[in-house]
Amino acid sequence: MASARIRRWALKLSNYNYRIQFKGTHEIANADCLSRLPCPDETVPRQEELVLLTEQCILNAEAVAAETRRDPVLSQVLRLVQHGGWPVESPDWLKPYAARRHELSQTAGVLLWGHRVVIPTVARKRVLGELHVGHPGIVKTKALARSIVWWPKIDEDISTVVRSCAPCQESRGAPPH
Ligand SMILES: [Zn+2]
Repeated sequence: MASARIRRWALKLSNYNYRIQFKGTHEIANADCLSRLPCPDETVPRQEELVLLTEQCILNAEAVAAETRRDPVLSQVLRLVQHGGWPVESPDWLKPYAARRHELSQTAGVLLWGHRVVIPTVARKRVLGELHVGHPGIVKTKALARSIVWWPKIDEDISTVVRSCAPCQESRGAPPH
C-alpha cells in the first residue's frame, strides 16, 4: 500500500479524466483566461472516500453497504443517522456511535465517521488483514487505519493483530541494552 501522501494525491486526482498528449516546447502557449475556464460538464463527483477504498480493493462500497444493513448494530446506527431519534441514555453497544453522532453520516448505505468508513463487524478481520499487508508495524498500521476506516476499539484490534504477527515481531527492533 502506498504512503498516505501518495494516497491523498490519488484521491484528489481520481476526480479527473486525463488525455495525455506530447507537445513540443515551441507549441506550448501561455495559459490564458479562456483555456482555464471550468468545463461545463457538471458530472457529480463521486464519493471520494468510497472511490479510494474501492479502487484500492480494500473494500467494495456495495458489499459494505450490504454488510452494514445486515449488521445488528450498524443497521440501527444507520437508521438513527438517516432518521434521527437517538436515545437520551444510550445502551453500551450504542455508546461509541452516540458519542460521534454529530460526525456520523451515510452515503449509499455506507456509514461514515468524518471521512472514515465505519466497517461492519463481519468485515473487520478482512480489513485488518488489508491494513496489515506489508507488515508496517503498529504505529503505521494505526495511522493508515485512521485515514480511512473506523470501528469501536479499532486501535486495540490493530495492536492485537500486530502483536500476534510473527513477521512483525521478528522485524521489531531489539530492546535497548
Ligand atoms: Zn505483521
